[in-house]
Amino acid sequence: MRKKIIAGNWKMHKTQAEALEFLSVLKLNLANTTEKADIVLCVPFTLLSLLSKSLHGGNIHLGAQNIHWANEGAFTGEISGSMLVDLNANYVIVGHSERRQYFGETDKIVNEKVIAAQYHKIKPILCVGETKKQRDAGEVEKVIVKQLEQSLVNVDQGNLVIAYEPIWAIGTGETCNVLEANRIIGIIREQVTNKGITIQYGGSVTPKNISEIMTQPNIDGVLVGGASLNPLSFSEIINY
Ligand code: PGA
Repeated sequence: MRKKIIAGNWKMHKTQAEALEFLSVLKLNLANTTEKADIVLCVPFTLLSLLSKSLHGGNIHLGAQNIHWANEGAFTGEISGSMLVDLNANYVIVGHSERRQYFGETDKIVNEKVIAAQYHKIKPILCVGETKKQRDAGEVEKVIVKQLEQSLVNVDQGNLVIAYEPIWAIGTGETCNVLEANRIIGIIREQVTNKGITIQYGGSVTPKNISEIMTQPNIDGVLVGGASLNPLSFSEIINY
């Protein structure tokens, strides 16, 4: 049985007070979730320390949204894997399309970040996905296979999560057709050597579409952006 993971990606949102408020409302609204899926909250670096104390002992895991490939050094403004370990982050999102788009992350950089995370025993959530233009040009498979090939060089597939996030579905309200997401995730699974990897879907996941997504045989969970910011909608997704 592959592990199911429901992860929230808060992106650049929430102060410490807002994060604590979120957590108290979330906890009140969680049903008995442990059997269904592991929960991961990928939060800004500034909230890791605070949340690691508040989440202590619970079944919600903590993740970061970025990592530098080096362990330390002259990289002004960056955060290393050892710093993330220090703050109790167990997961890290790597290669999110926003980082590729706005911060110039290439597959080579993504590969180095995945390796750095694994070196520190942090589980990378590797994001792949095509643009609308690539989809319209019929290049989805080609794009995904290339992203995987280049990001998975020398990667230990025993400690890895993959998220299929079609870029045109992120933050747009336009979810990928579930059968199509299931098909692409099947293709991703053909590409990896470890068939037991958790492969998530991400892109406009909401309380409305979660059950349909989670019933697809290839989809092992979701990476949720916008709907993870509200504790009520995120708890509905977790309790799907
Ligand atoms: P969204 O974001 O759920 O707001 O579409 C998903 C993501 O960016 O991971």
